[in-house]
Amino acid sequence: MMNDDCVFCRILSGSIGTKLYEDEDFFIIRDINPKARLHYLAITREHAPLISGYTGVDALGRILKKISAMTDTLGLYGGYRLIINQGKDAEQSVQHLHIHILGGEPLGDLR
Ligand code: AMP
Repeated sequence: MMNDDCVFCRILSGSIGTKLYEDEDFFIIRDINPKARLHYLAITREHAPLISGYTGVDALGRILKKISAMTDTLGLYGGYRLIINQGKDAEQSVQHLHIHILGGEPLGDLR
């Protein structure tokens, strides 16, 4: 369900931003504030803040497989890191489920 107050829903609808890829499950954009040389967001079409409320359980598997098949297209030749922030301890700032895709350089350890 589209949420007019959600920035990712507005990108999905095409009213703002640029989608690099789109299919029936999700779409990919560049993060506006990159935390690595390459930083993309894979965003579900369905507006749900958390995995727990997301109905596309099978879609999540397809999205992961699709990301892994797109790494050359995205320039992620040396590997990549996926991050899903959930809730306040993770400092989730956009309440629409998304997977960060980071790469394009050595990323170091998580801590
Ligand atoms: P999170 O903290 O996991 O909710 O991540 C939200 C991400 O969305 C942040 O990395 C932001 O830089 C990114 N972001 C917010 N608004 C936009 C936008 N309009 N276009 C691209 N990325 C955005």
